Amino acid sequence: MRDFEDPPNTTVRPTRSVVVVGGGVIGRVTAWRAARHGLDVTLVEPDPVTEPADARASSTVAAGMLTPATEAVFGEEELMGLGVRSARMYDSFVTEVEAAAGMSVGHHRTGTLLVAFDRDDLAVLDELHALQRRLGIATERLSSRECRRLEPHLAPSVRGGVLASDDHSVDPRRLLRALARAAERSGAREVAGSVTEVSSPGPDGARLGVRLADGTVLPAHQVVLATGCWGDRITLPAPVLPPIRPVKGQLLRARVRDGEPPLVERTVRGLVRGFPVYLVPRADGEVIVGATQEELGHDTALTAGGLWQVLRDARELVPGITELEITETCAGLRPGSPDNEPLLGPTRVPGLHLAVGHFRHGVLLAPVTGEVMVEALTTGVLPEYARRFAADRPLSGGAA
Ligand SMILES: Cc1cc2nc3c(=O)[nH]c(=O)nc-3n(C[C@H](O)[C@H](O)[C@H](O)COP(=O)(O)OP(=O)(O)OC[C@H]3O[C@@H](n4cnc5c(N)ncnc54)[C@H](O)[C@@H]3O)c2cc1C
Repeated sequence: MRDFEDPPNTTVRPTRSVVVVGGGVIGRVTAWRAARHGLDVTLVEPDPVTEPADARASSTVAAGMLTPATEAVFGEEELMGLGVRSARMYDSFVTEVEAAAGMSVGHHRTGTLLVAFDRDDLAVLDELHALQRRLGIATERLSSRECRRLEPHLAPSVRGGVLASDDHSVDPRRLLRALARAAERSGAREVAGSVTEVSSPGPDGARLGVRLADGTVLPAHQVVLATGCWGDRITLPAPVLPPIRPVKGQLLRARVRDGEPPLVERTVRGLVRGFPVYLVPRADGEVIVGATQEELGHDTALTAGGLWQVLRDARELVPGITELEITETCAGLRPGSPDNEPLLGPTRVPGLHLAVGHFRHGVLLAPVTGEVMVEALTTGVLPEYARRFAADRPLSGGAA
């Protein structure tokens, strides 16, 4: 680890102080990893991690699928490579965070079954399977009968599927609480508040200053903006944050009745007349059923149409879903960058870093983001494998 040079006459610990703005999964993993590396970390977040239903963070809504294989998209091979790298880190990441926090994060290792509803959906699924094979990802093409042998509650009309045994899931709300606890135990501080401005220079000779809505200014040598799709409300020394567009997702949480067996054993993703839908089971009987994809700005209203679409498509795949008890409905905003890839590491403002734009994959990408951001904070550069995702890369339609 390399320290930065001390500016003269400072009252803060200038070479090691880091303020992380935002307590979603990306801010929290960065804060924990940085604190564990001996940096002096303060995380600023307005919403308590213990009240996920009221929070703005996309991380509190996420289903928690760790599914780089079944999320593969043509043209996003590099991003998928980062996802595969992060997925491979998950086992040891979970062991470490659970030990550090003393609690489980609900890592569910039963794989993912991707199924098709009609012939057109099956054609898309076959193309995806060919892409997975080209990229060297181990998945297995299954007939309709083989799918139903694995998941007996699937509708007989399901046309076929692909089994991705290495695509798992985690409970993001538990993960957030565990990361908060682990960070605290590693010495990180948390301040409840909303950041309005990052200034350069900061107070008391510090390189940067982080102003909160109540007027407090925190001095910092380095600042990480991990604000999901809300960073445009913060005044910065230069326009280094490209537009991060919110992509709304509505989903619902349901559970089987007491004493009933789980509806699905593994994550079931499906294409129904071209619409993606998923059911993600948790060990305690909860099932997450999602999700819409809507580009409506910062609107998080739940709509009858959105929830109907999700339930309609989920029922086509797993008719027994109508028997579940609904426990929560919610909507979150996926933070999408102009090229749909994350923006990580230093900007042209000395000391100011970004960790934003994780779009549909923030939970999956948490371990690798933690690793990348610690490297950026301690050496000033990104690891070789992450250079493509540099925060200061040229982007069409955005500042950088
Ligand atoms: C319906 C849905 C399902 C999803 N499912 C999955 C999935 O299965 N797997 C997966 O990997 N990803 C999934 N995602 C995507 C995932 O949720 C995001 O990529 C990830 O949560 C982004 O994390 P983040 O920390 O960058 O942003 P967020 O979680 O949005 O956190 C940003 C934080 O910054 C705080 N903040 C904002 N402004 C300020 C300010 N001025 N001062 C201080 N703090 C501020 C906010 O309060 C918030 O806590 C899903 C998303 C949605 C909406």
